[in-house]
Amino acid sequence: MNKSKTTILLVDDTRYNLQILSNMLSNQGYDVLEAINGGDAITLAITHLPDLILLDIKMPDISGYEVCINLKSNPITQQIPIIFISSIEDVEEKVEAFAVGGIDFINKPFHLIEVLARIETHLRISSLQTQLLEQTKLLESQNIILQKELSSLTGINWVLYSELQQAIERKELRLFYQPIFNLKTDLINGFEALIRWQHPERGIVSPDEFISLVESTDLIYPIGQWVINTACEQLRIWQKCFPKCSNLTMSVNVSTKQIAELNLVEDVRRALCDHQINPHCLKLEITEGTVMGNREHTLQILHQLKDLKIQFCIDDFGTGYSSLRRLTDFPIDILKIDRSFIYNEEWIIVKAIGSLAFILGKSIVVEGIETRAQLTVLKSLFSSSLESCYGQGYLFAKPLNAELAFEFLEDNSVICD
Ligand code: C2E
Ligand code: MG
Ligand code: MG
Repeated sequence: MNKSKTTILLVDDTRYNLQILSNMLSNQGYDVLEAINGGDAITLAITHLPDLILLDIKMPDISGYEVCINLKSNPITQQIPIIFISSIEDVEEKVEAFAVGGIDFINKPFHLIEVLARIETHLRISSLQTQLLEQTKLLESQNIILQKELSSLTGINWVLYSELQQAIERKELRLFYQPIFNLKTDLINGFEALIRWQHPERGIVSPDEFISLVESTDLIYPIGQWVINTACEQLRIWQKCFPKCSNLTMSVNVSTKQIAELNLVEDVRRALCDHQINPHCLKLEITEGTVMGNREHTLQILHQLKDLKIQFCIDDFGTGYSSLRRLTDFPIDILKIDRSFIYNEEWIIVKAIGSLAFILGKSIVVEGIETRAQLTVLKSLFSSSLESCYGQGYLFAKPLNAELAFEFLEDNSVICD
């Protein structure tokens, strides 16, 4: 360490002490500053930012403790190591020196050789800490550069990926619940569980911003498992709280990657068992892409899940490419008609999908019903099969957090399907 560039501030109201310490440290090659009281000490510390402060405790105006507290609360001076030097014998007072932020304590009368040894040790530690901090900052910025390079190579946003990893650890993911109504009875049939990210700064983040990244990486495994478990846990609570809704259903979105993973069967089995859910009340929503994937493997997993007696929906039906044959091959119970058909009022397509579903013995859920007029058209389109028609959309309710969904059920529980 280059001592001539190392500045030590000595603070003592006894001039004699200041003098002998100052002589000794100057002889060792240190730059020395001297303060005879607490006020001067604070001013010198702020203006010169010494590398270490040797601080007396008992001083007439401001005590050494107060000086220390002042410097530690100032972001400019809080990193400067402070060694107390005092004739105080009382152990509690000595401990106080550490509580206010001191790093060491030297007893008076002091031995110069001991003072020097302690100063050198703390300067070494302090310099190592600074190096460590710089290295950490460097590594962090290199890590961000690497993540960005990796993102452009792989097409995966690795910065978002690591933020989501943290979100899982910090338990920032939430499920919202959107009610689904039977169009014949106008009664609540169940809810769809929809994921949200309760971001500490950005508030509620929509799945549109992160779910495709989750589905294309291994994050889907812990998140998918958490969604299934949380949705089942919540369903059981509501079924118990509202006995008239003991058949309430819960629809859970699952991705193609989850289906390809064998643990899904076990995860579902465990969630059903842990929360004592009637399997018929759990509906897994898969996409057309899933049924068009690896046929044999997907079919095998879907049948294993079907053996548990759960139900399957095809989500956003009509927007993907699914062969009609797969609709009969695969154990599908419900087609969810994509909301774009409702928004664009493509009633002929809606009618065609509904008719296909009914011929195949399946029910439909019409997504994205926003207006009473849309509901009226739908009811007249499907007037002869309304018992197999369900509706979901802002007209009934937006996705609600668990508390609001509970209140929604309280208001509607007399009319559960
Ligand atoms: P989805 O499964 O088709 O969910 C329906 C989406 O339509 C939800 O968007 C819902 O808020 C929205 N919606 C419902 N009613 C209306 C309406 O009347 N008008 C309009 N304009 N929109 C309506 P959200 O919650 O943003 O979810 C978007 C997508 O994210 C979901 O589409 C689903 O594909 C995916 N997702 C959500 N949660 C999960 C999850 O837990 N796991 C997986 N794998 N995907 C999820
Ligand atoms: Mg869905
Ligand atoms: Mg959908």
